[in-house]
Amino acid sequence: HHAKVCHSGIGLYDAAMARNLHRKEQLASHLRRALSRQALMLHFQPQFDLTSGELVGAEVLCRWHDEELGWVSPAEFIPLAEERGLIHELSDWVLAEGCRQLQAWKAEGKTLPGSLSINISAQQFDTEDLVERLRDLCLPVQPQELTLELTESAFMDDPAMAIKLSQRLREAGFRVAIDDFGTGYSSLAYLRDLHVDTLKVDMSFVRSMLRDERDRTIVETIVAMARTLGLRTVAEGVETRDHEQALRAMGCGASQGFYYGRPCDAAAFSRQWLSG
Ligand code: C2E
Ligand code: MG
Ligand code: MG
Ligand code: MG
Repeated sequence: HHAKVCHSGIGLYDAAMARNLHRKEQLASHLRRALSRQALMLHFQPQFDLTSGELVGAEVLCRWHDEELGWVSPAEFIPLAEERGLIHELSDWVLAEGCRQLQAWKAEGKTLPGSLSINISAQQFDTEDLVERLRDLCLPVQPQELTLELTESAFMDDPAMAIKLSQRLREAGFRVAIDDFGTGYSSLAYLRDLHVDTLKVDMSFVRSMLRDERDRTIVETIVAMARTLGLRTVAEGVETRDHEQALRAMGCGASQGFYYGRPCDAAAFSRQWLSG
């Protein structure tokens, strides 16, 4: 009896693995096709200054709707693109398209205040002449108009290289943000040596800070430390007025989340948030 249970258990496991693998292969081939047809989309999410309430920028988030598979989350297709060597093509498209949109808004007299934030994958660190490549792709937008978001874990993979790269990005005029800050294990000394402008407080802390004293302390500490180091702070995942008030009281600089607006396409973003 025991053996039979085991046997069918293994059978189920194999079937689940096979299904998983099948979905992955299917996703990868559809993603490759979507990239070659430029069928991905960009959404934009606003960021606001917590003192003045003014719009201070937007983050670009990649979206994919497949005819057969429906909406696929970036939490699924970005890691897949990284695994299958598609991330370079995807990232290049996101940057170029984000910058094209920024220029289009300017041409309509609806300039985005502050900067446009673009997510960068750790794998792009391996690109030769990454800084030059980013600068070429963003033209005619100036690097000063962009914030490149790199996750804390990406910085931690190779700290010495990340320090050098952040310095070169900044020298080229880009602003640099550490995304999902607080989830990695960067040391204070390391943070001092990185050339960054902004810490984005990870949304896991924001989400639980009103219930959990420890998470509240973490957010307070990140904000206080950032101030000491002369860095901006942006809180992510701000979903309620209570979140906003608590963050403002802590001295957090800016805020992004569903409370203000969900990521939306360029037309909706412009209608709702850009004046002119
Ligand atoms: P991220 O860069 O940390 O982006 C923030 C994520 O939080 C986005 O998820 C956004 O939709 C979501 N979000 C914003 N406000 C709220 C809120 O109030 N509550 C909750 N629960 N979520 C909120 P999304 O768009 O699903 O993207 C997930 C991740 O995928 C991003 O995390 C980023 O790491 C990656 N990603 C998205 N687009 C790109 C891209 O173009 N390039 C690269 N390399 N990565 C991307
Ligand atoms: Mg981000
Ligand atoms: Mg984040
Ligand atoms: Mg994230």
